[in-house]
Amino acid sequence: MSGATFILNGRSVPFKLGQSILDAARDNGVEIPTLCYLKGLAPSGACRICLVEVTGARSLMAACSTPVAPAMEVFTDTPRVHQARKLNTELLLAAGRHDCILCEANGDCGLQELAYRYGVDGSSFPRSEHIYPTEQENPFIVRDFSRCILCGRCVQACNQIVVNRAISQGYRGKDSKIVTGGDRPYHESDCVFCGQCVEVCPTGALTEKKLRGQGRPWETKRIRTTCPYCGVGCQMWLHVKEDRIVKVTAVEGAAPNDGRLCVKGRFGYDFLYSEDRLKTPLIRENGRFREASWDEALDLVTAKFKEIIDRDGPDAVAGVSCARSINEDSYQMQKLFRAVFKTNNIDHCART
Ligand code: SF4
Ligand code: SF4
Ligand code: SF4
Repeated sequence: MSGATFILNGRSVPFKLGQSILDAARDNGVEIPTLCYLKGLAPSGACRICLVEVTGARSLMAACSTPVAPAMEVFTDTPRVHQARKLNTELLLAAGRHDCILCEANGDCGLQELAYRYGVDGSSFPRSEHIYPTEQENPFIVRDFSRCILCGRCVQACNQIVVNRAISQGYRGKDSKIVTGGDRPYHESDCVFCGQCVEVCPTGALTEKKLRGQGRPWETKRIRTTCPYCGVGCQMWLHVKEDRIVKVTAVEGAAPNDGRLCVKGRFGYDFLYSEDRLKTPLIRENGRFREASWDEALDLVTAKFKEIIDRDGPDAVAGVSCARSINEDSYQMQKLFRAVFKTNNIDHCART
């Protein structure tokens, strides 16, 4: 903390040296809207929504890319600021096909929220022609270029957060588009389907394919949990409608993943509803499996272990634990083998 202060909406407040107006305002409880800014990354200033008035400056300043200076006087909520944000929202809306009622992002869209907040009715500018078809060939992500506002968040997320470098800004002027290498569809590109671009997209340009028709934001509740796939323990939100998961997103600001997920955690939840999922233990008898209770199955396993150890000694058995299980389970597994079975034959599958 530098001890320096600036004037925010008439109030003297502290800031850290080098902070942008946007970050300093947030730290002091004042939210400035933005569509392109991603916390922790270099600001692009692409959306021009975070404009604020700075006393002495001739034009409005982008709060995301303007550093605060001591004694600077900033106003975030004046009629001039509203008018500019409204105009820029109108321009963004006019540049695409924004038929909200048909959009998967309806109710969870930064652009829609701004249009509502600033009273945009979409009649000020003629709509641009829609030139790129929607891409939905892959099983995970739908790319609707007509709803893309070219904020660049997806590119920053892919290149700087997950460092996959699968997408970039392509073409120029009215043809501008977010492209993969060679402008190929996602499934033919370097994309690994982590879905980070979907996570940060402020509009309906990138949406989860499996979500289609499964639940609107206001119909779902969020349940926080830990990803079941590996031992990292990523924190995630399950978006649940009528006891069924319709979408998974990452928890921002929570260790260890801080808003990131991989393809399995984000998209691999279907197994819960698979018809093939085993729900009871199976015991093989006469070459065929039959369903059994947990007690019966565990009694059988215990008896077999005892039989082998009594006959051939403890080193005749070995355990391979799941490297994707939690630390506590792995600890208990090795305890079982070392302390109960009296063998050091214990390993985990990550080394096989
Ligand atoms: S992207 Fe947002 S503003 Fe555009 S149609 Fe979808 S919900 Fe509406
Ligand atoms: S899904 Fe992941 S790898 Fe693919 S474009 Fe999006 S951020 Fe990049
Ligand atoms: S796809 Fe989404 S995140 Fe990427 S530039 Fe378009 S609106 Fe922004």
